[in-house]
Amino acid sequence: MRAAAVAVIFVLTAPAAARAQPYAEAEAQTLALAQETIALRSVQGPDNRTIDVARVYAGALRAGGWAERDIEIAPVDDTAYLIATWPGSDPSLAPIVLSAHMDVVEARPEDWERDPFTPVIENGFLYGRGASDTKFEASLAIASLIELKRQGFRPTRGIVVAFSGDEETTMKTSKIIADRLANAHVVLNVDTASGTLSEETGEPLYWTWQGAEKTYIDFELEVTNPGGHSARPRADNAIAQMSRALERINAYRFAAEQNDITRDYFAKAAAIHPDARIAAAMRAFAANPRDAAAIEVLRAEPSMIGQVGTTCVPTMVSGGHAVNALPQRVTAIVNCRVFPGHSSAEIKAELERAAATPEVRITDVTGDTATASPASPLRQEFVDVFEKAVAAAWGDVPIYPTQSSGASDSMWYRALGVPSYGASPSFIKQSDNFSHGLNERIPLLNVRPGVIYYLSVLRDLASRR
Ligand SMILES: [Zn+2]
Repeated sequence: MRAAAVAVIFVLTAPAAARAQPYAEAEAQTLALAQETIALRSVQGPDNRTIDVARVYAGALRAGGWAERDIEIAPVDDTAYLIATWPGSDPSLAPIVLSAHMDVVEARPEDWERDPFTPVIENGFLYGRGASDTKFEASLAIASLIELKRQGFRPTRGIVVAFSGDEETTMKTSKIIADRLANAHVVLNVDTASGTLSEETGEPLYWTWQGAEKTYIDFELEVTNPGGHSARPRADNAIAQMSRALERINAYRFAAEQNDITRDYFAKAAAIHPDARIAAAMRAFAANPRDAAAIEVLRAEPSMIGQVGTTCVPTMVSGGHAVNALPQRVTAIVNCRVFPGHSSAEIKAELERAAATPEVRITDVTGDTATASPASPLRQEFVDVFEKAVAAAWGDVPIYPTQSSGASDSMWYRALGVPSYGASPSFIKQSDNFSHGLNERIPLLNVRPGVIYYLSVLRDLASRR
């Protein structure tokens, strides 16, 4: 009797306990890895500890059963990158790439309430530089991958951890990694949270996956002039010429355009946009990319104008050398966010036409930290994988794709024709999102759903042929 009673209690309580904490080891490891890596100051410059971040992740994978020959840490300048492979059972299949970066943006301790490089858990958050961009995400991905192996999963396609070491600055390692993995089947980039929590209720509002990025370009404009004494003005004044050119560029509107990612974004995000007039314009533009009235409404919205097409805006100007001399040289910077699919040369020619001031010479001064990249294809097989995983982790949440105005490691893969999707499982309130800013933090409520999400996504992607 007694034994039977005990057995009944066991049967009743064990599944509930298992549901409450199904992946305790992965959850604990996520937090341990995130704290250990936040404590390492992986900032460009002297004493850059990025290589130590790579060693922490490599050590975890080694302990999790990865073979030494499958783990590589490659130093590059003052940083390093990590490539760790879980070979698939079918070596003829292109691998899945799990992408993140290990470097962080500089943080000055005197500006922070807490030391940015001392991880602190408080009020349901993990605080520290890199908490949301992107050490928590990278740690969650690594711990989930190890959990997948612990469960006895055997991937058909290989899974490659590919963590860069200078995404926030030169992107040298980002480019090297993409070149080495140019044969990848698909890239899952976990850089920064993709889900939004309600400011009022804290409940998940919507989740997005990123399928495209605009290209960042800086153009320098320059006018030179023989100059002379200001008491003897000439007809051509370099400041006046530059002013005219900048005014025209500022007023110029690049053509409205769409790709599969932004069309789907406008159509789906309209359903949850709080402003009915803007929501209507989003729907109208999705249905007809030439709808002039809708385009006008969207262009008037700072949060929308970048989604409608290329934007270029004057951001800096300098000129003249003395209060009583005609200016000999004037320069300005025009910063562009180029819609995917256009080259720098194309945009430069368009700016020249818009400026209609032949004396102004225009030069691309971006350097090699950015490249043009096409939108990744909107392939239903991948969308289904993300939607299923988010549903398993968070329940019924609206999902739509985005095209971002900033660059990430995905840019280098897309430029090589490898589909890359930004798809972190983490949710955060917009008011708590301090990536690159002060008191960066991530809500701890992301740990458990995060593991569930990765187990689902990685199982699905790596089991397919
Ligand atoms: Zn980042």
